[in-house]
Amino acid sequence: MKLLIVEDEAKIAGYLRKGLAEEGYVIDVATNGIDGLHMALHESYALIVLDTMLPGIDGFGLLAALRQSKQTPVIMLTARHRIEDRVRGLKAGADDYLVKPFAFSELVARIEVLLRRAAGIAPAPDALVLALADLQVDLGRRRATRAGQRIDLSAKEFQLLTLLLRRKGEVLSRTEIAEQVWDVNFDHGTNVIDVAVRRLRSKLDQPFERPLLHTVRGMGYVLEDR
Ligand code: CA
Repeated sequence: MKLLIVEDEAKIAGYLRKGLAEEGYVIDVATNGIDGLHMALHESYALIVLDTMLPGIDGFGLLAALRQSKQTPVIMLTARHRIEDRVRGLKAGADDYLVKPFAFSELVARIEVLLRRAAGIAPAPDALVLALADLQVDLGRRRATRAGQRIDLSAKEFQLLTLLLRRKGEVLSRTEIAEQVWDVNFDHGTNVIDVAVRRLRSKLDQPFERPLLHTVRGMGYVLEDR
């Protein structure tokens, strides 16, 4: 799941990026309002963490422009305790706000609440379930089963499986998997993806008769029922 952080203070942006990546999210960072708005409009984010005071366009201006076309959930960060800033943020269409300095665990909890709420208002519950043969992945409940048996997955394994399942039958390269599931600063020299695929395969395929996750030598990986 991909989140956007719009924050001009490098130290805070770096701290949020690192912490949220450890929680299993893929993170983009914009350090000014203009880049932030551009990314928010042209990329697809599950949620945006938006600072108030920003160079270029401030957080209120960015949010007002975003809300003309997109309803991406937004948590605003305000450095000031002034009540009018919070009111202004909520009026501009923010879904929640946090006053700096805040505890990281509180930010994570609020992000989870908003993401659950966003998943809950999806059109039909069926739209949140992906399936292939006897494999089912429930995106709303973040749960995977094969032949009715629960498969325990880490956050990254779940993201990897979801990506492969959304694009079932299509061979995905390591580079594409890295971009979609790992950070943009991913080091392509490492074998992180192969290790993760191996681990996913051991949970997904080994206990069952029919393998679904296949290696296409020299190209990448594909999820399909052969
Ligand atoms: Ca700021």
